[in-house]
Amino acid sequence: MIRFFCPCGAELFFESEFCGACKSPVAYNPEAMRFEIVQPPDETAANTTKTAVLCRNGVDFNVCNWLADHDAPHGLCFSCQFNRTIPNLGRDKNIQRWHTMEKSKRRLLFSLQSLGIPLANGWRDPQGGLLFDFLEDARSNPMAESPFVTTGYLDGVVTINVLEADPALRFAEQQASNQEYRTVLGHFRHESGHHAYQLFAHDNELISSFAELFGDAHRDYGLALQSFHTMGPRDGWEQHHITAYASAHPSEDWAETWGHYLHIHDTLETAASFGLLESDSTRPDFATKIHTWRRLSVGFNELNRSMGLDDAYPFIVNSAVAAKLAFVDHVIGALRNSSPDLATALPPF
Ligand SMILES: [Zn+2]
Ligand SMILES: [Zn+2]
Ligand SMILES: [Zn+2]
Repeated sequence: MIRFFCPCGAELFFESEFCGACKSPVAYNPEAMRFEIVQPPDETAANTTKTAVLCRNGVDFNVCNWLADHDAPHGLCFSCQFNRTIPNLGRDKNIQRWHTMEKSKRRLLFSLQSLGIPLANGWRDPQGGLLFDFLEDARSNPMAESPFVTTGYLDGVVTINVLEADPALRFAEQQASNQEYRTVLGHFRHESGHHAYQLFAHDNELISSFAELFGDAHRDYGLALQSFHTMGPRDGWEQHHITAYASAHPSEDWAETWGHYLHIHDTLETAASFGLLESDSTRPDFATKIHTWRRLSVGFNELNRSMGLDDAYPFIVNSAVAAKLAFVDHVIGALRNSSPDLATALPPF
């Protein structure tokens, strides 16, 4: 993540809603990629230059700090326009849970935009667009229709179970599935990998390289997942995969690797923007990036240990995993330079 500043010069953060120095309400302009002072509603109404306004989900529910175009559908910002289903706000904790979801979604969209991934929402582009469902099941809401909602991706729709935004419930899931790392942002990044796969699934050359590294994406998915959940991960998965779950199926290996690429990209960008790297390691060739990442991740794990916390990055990027990450980097380069027909359907930023 890059650094942000208020027009008054004070430092802001990607989640900022107010400037601590000048006390102004602020919001992020996704088109200009900078923060602006939010104009009071009466001044906005009188403004003939059609200034962007705070997203409706920020005004009504305080869950969004992005600006929306003055004529945006339902007054929603670029990020909120990707929503299809939000949690039932009649329930106590759901506004806070929704807020957590939106914060992670905005961070994901920022990274995808800055990497140049073509992004269209499914309302405007039902064929190739992306939408999000935030759904409850009986574990977080006894009144919910479904006893079990799986976080996942299908035909352009990312579903995230709302319980993932509740720290206690998420921790229980983490313990039950024996994972060292489970975050809301991690879910968003993983599921966006399944969507990214759809963006290059028509490219025979990329798909054949994919098969060499990850295996056959058309292998029986239901059977593979059932086997993973009953028998556990493949023996020796550590030599080939970034996580145990990645060994379940080539599609999951891809999504886990894609998610890790985004972890690495965002964290290197943050480190570079705070002057913690010698140079901006988000731009150089991939081998340099991985070399920098290995060094940096050991360093910040040690920082965490100094604070009595668990490792922030409890993973090992061995050479097999590095080769898969390099392929993700290659795919991102191809997506950045492709899809002219999809690009025409994109919002103007
Ligand atoms: Zn300020
Ligand atoms: Zn919004
Ligand atoms: Zn998945």
